[in-house]
Amino acid sequence: MIPQTNPKATYLEQKPAIDAAIRRVLDSGWYVGGEEVAAFEAEFAAWSGSRHAVAVASGTDALIVALRGLGVGPGDAVITVSHTAVATVAAIELTGATPVLVDVDHYWTLDPERLEALLANWPAEAPKAKALIPVHLYGQPAAMPALQAIADRHGLAVLEDNSQAHGAMLGGRMVGRWGKVAAYSLYPTKNLGAIGDGGIITTDDDALAEIMRALREYGWRQRYISDIAGMNSRLDPLQAAILRTKLTSLDHDTARRQAVAARYTEGLAGLAGLALPAVRDGAVPAWHQYVIDAGARRDALQAALREAGIGTLVHYPVPVHLQPAYKGRIVLGPGGLPRTEAAAGSILSLPMFPQLADADVAAVIAAVRRIWG
Ligand SMILES: *Cc1c(COP(=O)(O)O)cnc(C)c1O
Repeated sequence: MIPQTNPKATYLEQKPAIDAAIRRVLDSGWYVGGEEVAAFEAEFAAWSGSRHAVAVASGTDALIVALRGLGVGPGDAVITVSHTAVATVAAIELTGATPVLVDVDHYWTLDPERLEALLANWPAEAPKAKALIPVHLYGQPAAMPALQAIADRHGLAVLEDNSQAHGAMLGGRMVGRWGKVAAYSLYPTKNLGAIGDGGIITTDDDALAEIMRALREYGWRQRYISDIAGMNSRLDPLQAAILRTKLTSLDHDTARRQAVAARYTEGLAGLAGLALPAVRDGAVPAWHQYVIDAGARRDALQAALREAGIGTLVHYPVPVHLQPAYKGRIVLGPGGLPRTEAAAGSILSLPMFPQLADADVAAVIAAVRRIWG
């Protein structure tokens, strides 16, 4: 069986170093906060080229803490996409704000034209739009120059959801470096993954970083004194120590994902009716997923690949606005979300992880070509 993803492979590749990191924390006697977390934050800030990195307990919390740090709360609206992990939208509601969802473009990321149309027709009585969350889905950079220009014109703060795009580049600049602040998930299968939950937020804004540090720990600036109403969302030192080890191989792992993607793109070219991922001009994706569009043949292709011992997944089978918890009550941009709704029935994520062997990539390509006919 060729799995779609394989977080254990990264552990096994670095087992001695990760085991030693875990042992180091156990022996330290320091089990919340402390030097490991501070060191991981400093190393991640340096890796991302940001002034500050604030570690939290999950990617969802990274979005919540960043939004709250931007002053988003009840009575505000936040614009994002429905073609994303449900966490993006859940985080907005958990701050008390109202999500407003727009459709995606040809690259599966927030469509600047749809955003313009939404803002041009914003109802006077609706909550005021305060922030914009572009999601670099599958590791594909969103149209940041256009989105940032629109956000600037309308006074929206930009929070990049970087949970699938650690290290992706656009126009020679890393994603997460375009907006005011970026949130990353460190879930085990993400491009940089903990052995458990984790998240981190980056920004160059000193004041915002300071507020987010307070928010993640009871609103403390000084121990036992809550200046603002905060929460508990800390990354623990065990995860920080593991992530410090894994961060050393992140760029190498990204290069391996890019090599897998290049092989798929070459090997799967020329199949009529099977669309390969489009890459925006100037973009170097981080290839969290390699997502093909198989149209009406998606379910049959997935079943046949399973028969052939090849695991695939659909990211995501139901758009957020059609999920039971959200259906019928979420505000959508003008024209609805036709691309998002069509995608759910036609997309398929092929096996993608850094340790995927060349022979397995070749086997996936051969199987897809044979099944497609
Ligand atoms: C994984 C993910 C999240 C949520 O991260 P958790 O660590 O699971 O809370 C948010 N947004 C996107 C785009 C994701 O892929």
